[in-house]
Order: sequence, then structure tokens, then C-alpha cells
Amino acid sequence: MTRPHQQTILKIESMSNLVDSFNREINYMRISVTDRCDLRCIYCASTNFKDQSHENTLRYEEIYRIVQAAASIGVTKIRLTGGEPLVRLHLSRLVGMLAGIPGIEEVSMTTNGTLLAKYAAELKAAGLKRVNVSLDSLKPDKFAYITGGDKLNDVLLGIETANNVGLVPVKINMVVLKGINDDEILDFARKTITGGWNVRYIEHMPFSNAKKQDNDMVSSQEIMSLISKELGELVPHHPRVGNGPAKYYKLPNSNGTLGFIGAVTECFCAQCNRFRLTSDGKLRPCLLDDDEIDIRERVRQGAGIEELAAVIQSAAVIKRKQHHLSSGQKPSARSMRQIGG
Ligand code: SAM
Repeated sequence: MTRPHQQTILKIESMSNLVDSFNREINYMRISVTDRCDLRCIYCASTNFKDQSHENTLRYEEIYRIVQAAASIGVTKIRLTGGEPLVRLHLSRLVGMLAGIPGIEEVSMTTNGTLLAKYAAELKAAGLKRVNVSLDSLKPDKFAYITGGDKLNDVLLGIETANNVGLVPVKINMVVLKGINDDEILDFARKTITGGWNVRYIEHMPFSNAKKQDNDMVSSQEIMSLISKELGELVPHHPRVGNGPAKYYKLPNSNGTLGFIGAVTECFCAQCNRFRLTSDGKLRPCLLDDDEIDIRERVRQGAGIEELAAVIQSAAVIKRKQHHLSSGQKPSARSMRQIGG
């Protein structure tokens, strides 16, 4: 005789996986828990942004049900993002709820780090596995210019605390902007030697409604050439954790790693395994494509897990083959804060 939890596991195993029209297996869901943020990064925040109402924002119980449905058809990895996820009250409660769903193997988070020192220990205890921290400058005045906030020390303390409580590996995401922070590429790379940091350089995507729209992207190729010229040969590295779009390397004598995310110049759509849930309850198959499917109303109408799973399947069906950033596509009418970066 099978016990209730065994029945759930058997059911999950017997369900087919989530596969899109191009035969890509989708097992990774990024969830924006809020569109609110305590920073105003020039490349992310829009000029005329109005916070979404609480009524329109998914409640934790609603996110829980959607993730239950996603897990029932093969989603195993969840990343919480925003907006800034840590400005949402009691986030560790949500982490605990999601980490306990059968089939969910990993809950991680992307954060700006300003509140991380305060919450790292309780997030870890709730079941969060690891964090990515966005940090674009190690210089207080430039950090303030890019983010609109005087919080560099809070972020650095957040990174240290996350490492101390075991939210590892902590990955540091730097968006490189020509003429603004590209003079710090080497400083960040040196941190992989002196501080064991895992740094990832991200190409700037020119979102249509961000304050900063001009194309001042520095390509992964340019960044790699600079680092190898100044600091030594980049040795390919295959990390044990994560299988996203970054290509990883190590410098000689470093404990840390360097990752390069060619968001614009390299198309990694063929390997894409993810979709997004926006904070207002839209399933978004691609960050850069405005096609969305509303799942919030279905949850609020009381749809069951199988019905919600069918809605998720329908989102996979409309996932496009690839984006066209390298040939000048301007991504999205919605800002990164709304979609969840
Ligand atoms: N507030 C959290 C944070 O700062 O990490 C999570 C949300 S933020 C939108 C997620 C990531 O998107 C950050 O690493 C941020 O640097 C990145 N991002 C935002 N706008 C971007 C853009 N235009 N191009 C490239 N990356 C961008």
C-alpha cells in the first residue's frame, strides 16, 4: 500500500516533462516576488515607474500553488528575483514553502545584497541554497551613481555574511557599462584571486524603458581579452553548481572563478531551460519577448494543480526559438523590475 507522500512522488515521476515546441526541456522557473526595489540602477529602473498594487501582486500561497503545478510537470529549480526580493516581507517564509515542494531540488535567489546581511541566516535555515549578488562597482561614489543609493558597504557585508552562513557559491554579477564601470573590470577579476570571489560579467541589454538606453555594452570578448592580457591566461573551468548561460574560467593562482554572460553577442537560446513568473502573475516564456500568459486569475478562480500545469504547458508552447538582440532588437515594453531579471 502506498502512503500519501509516496503517491505524490509516484505521480510526479509518471508525469511527462515540460518540453517546448523546439524540444527544449524546461525545468527552471525564475519568480519575481515583487516589482519594488530599494535601488534605482540606471540601466534597469525606468523613469516613470509606478509600484504595482498589492492586490495585483501574487500572494505567497498563490506562488506556492503555481510552483506545485510546475514541479508536477518537471520543474526542479526555482530562483527568486524581483524588483528586489528582500524588500518583500517574510521572504524566508516563501523560501521554506517552496523548498518543501516535492520535486523542487533547489531554491536560489538573485539580490542586490543591501539587506542580505540581515536575512542570510534565516534564508539559509529556510532552505535557500545559494545567492547571486548584483554589484557593479567597488567604488562608493560610482556605486551611488549607478544605483542611486549609498549602500556599497551593506552589499559587501551581505556578500561576506552569505558566504559565512553557506549560501554558496555566492556569484557576483557585474553589468559592464562602457565609460562608467569598465575601468573596474580588472579590480573585480583580482577579487577572484585575493578574495576567492566568483565574478560574472554581464553584457548590458538596452531595455526600452530604462533610464539608460544607449548601447554602451562591453562585449564578453573584449572583457576576456583585457583580463587575459593583464592578469594571465584564462583557463576554462566547469563549475559543479549551475548550468546557465555563463562560460567559466579561472586565473592562475585563484580560488574564485570568472564567468562571462554574452547576453547580447552570444545567443544561448538553443540551450534555454527557463521561463519566468512575473510578480503580477504572468507566465513569461522569454525575458526578451513580451508574450505572456496570465496564470494569476486562474489561481484566484481556484484552478486545481492539473489545470495550472496545463496553463504552464501552454506557456511552453509559445516560447520562441530565439531572441534577436545582436541584430538590434530592443527588449521588452516592460522593465526588468516588472519582469524579474
Ligand atoms: N534586485 C535584484 C538584483 O539586483 O540582483 C534582482 C533583480 S535585477 C533586475 C536582476 C539582474 O538583472 C541584476 O543582476 C541586474 O544587474 C540585471 N539587469 C538589470 N537590467 C539589466 C540590463 N539592462 N542588462 C543586463 N542586466 C541587467
